[in-house]
Amino acid sequence: MDVLGIDVGITNEAADSDGNLYNFGVKYKVCGKDQSVVLYSIATAIITKAKSTNRAIALERFFNPIKKQSSPSWKGINKHKKVTLYIIKLGKTQHVPIIMVDPKGTSQWCSSCGNMENNYRSGEKFVCNKCKKELHADINAAKNVRLRALNKLPV
Ligand SMILES: [Zn+2]
Repeated sequence: MDVLGIDVGITNEAADSDGNLYNFGVKYKVCGKDQSVVLYSIATAIITKAKSTNRAIALERFFNPIKKQSSPSWKGINKHKKVTLYIIKLGKTQHVPIIMVDPKGTSQWCSSCGNMENNYRSGEKFVCNKCKKELHADINAAKNVRLRALNKLPV
């Protein structure tokens, strides 16, 4: 089964390994209930895409989702974790397998040639000094999340 890699980024809400950015821009500055609606719609779009193409979803394991899920309040959970939790929840109800991977180095590896690039960022761009590949940093990370889920990226 192929995998759709997801990077829940800093500049965009999420990026996937197909090269799509889920950026809700100004709308995203809303908070509370409205923010949850926006984040939920991102999670739904990702799940729908994976399901319709018969793929699993790989996410970076930044925290223990089970522990956080039992938290009485959502207020203290940042938006990145919220998107992750929505994807996990929807994965269960929609029967889309979710793979949690080690996030180590997913921003540094070049997803194209496998070079470990230490000086990789030029704004939002990832630039590989070996193969000269340039792509959005979050999309490079999402591709690496996919590769890690497929055991093709060293830990
Ligand atoms: Zn490269």
